Amino acid sequence: MTNPEWLNYLNDQKILTQGDIEGEQVLHLQTPCEINLTESASKTLRDNYDPGCEKGGFLAAYPIKKNDKTVLIIKEIINLTNVSDDPKHSYLPDSAELGNGLRRAFKEHFLPIRFHTHPTEDETPIMEIFNYLYQADTSEQDRLVSNTLTLVVNKQLLLPRCLMLSTGKSNQRMFIGFYNGLIAPIEFEMHKKDNIKKAMDYILNDVSEWARKGDNKWWLTGGGVLLALLIIRYNKYAIPLILMLVAMLPMFINDQHGRPKYFAQLTKAREVTIDIP
Ligand SMILES: [Zn+2]
Repeated sequence: MTNPEWLNYLNDQKILTQGDIEGEQVLHLQTPCEINLTESASKTLRDNYDPGCEKGGFLAAYPIKKNDKTVLIIKEIINLTNVSDDPKHSYLPDSAELGNGLRRAFKEHFLPIRFHTHPTEDETPIMEIFNYLYQADTSEQDRLVSNTLTLVVNKQLLLPRCLMLSTGKSNQRMFIGFYNGLIAPIEFEMHKKDNIKKAMDYILNDVSEWARKGDNKWWLTGGGVLLALLIIRYNKYAIPLILMLVAMLPMFINDQHGRPKYFAQLTKAREVTIDIP
């Protein structure tokens, strides 16, 4: 099967579909879609993570159609050397390796999903956690580059891209998210806010339930007064910081609630399925 024949086959299977970007015809994935990261791929991603500089390459995604869903099974991670002048802040794959990787993908019939990492290294573990929270989103450059089409003979292909990062040297929590490809948002901020709102409602609900019981409301009032006194006594500028920490809390718990959408956070290298509805 030639490359265009394979793309036609994927189109017939309703794994790919036609779309357009500013009048140009492109092939992109058909939704609903789910991306299944195997345990070994998850482990490789995590083990290869370098907290000091950006890395990247391809996720080898084998496409199948299952119950009207496009399913991509990621079995292998292919690293491509970063040739950027500033590898701490940007990722530019070696062009020869990129060409070879693409040829291999179409020969072995997997879809090459481009990924890159964001570094989070810092002096203290707490700063590395902050970096993790701040870096878990696409940069302006990432969003721009994500519209770059891959020319396959006479067809243009646009696949989603993947961002991966971990909590610095401890490497204890891993973020993996998919963006653009005409099927996913180009940033994660909106969805993080969504999750934060849900988790906040959940927490507030719990607190109000608890406060309604017996003497609990006095504990709550006491706690509130104590917190206010501490803030006034020590530093009123701490207020935004405390509020920010409360708002960030769900970033540490949301991988326990249901099936992840667009991005997942893993506390250990394990198999995960991410929905792109
Ligand atoms: Zn980036």
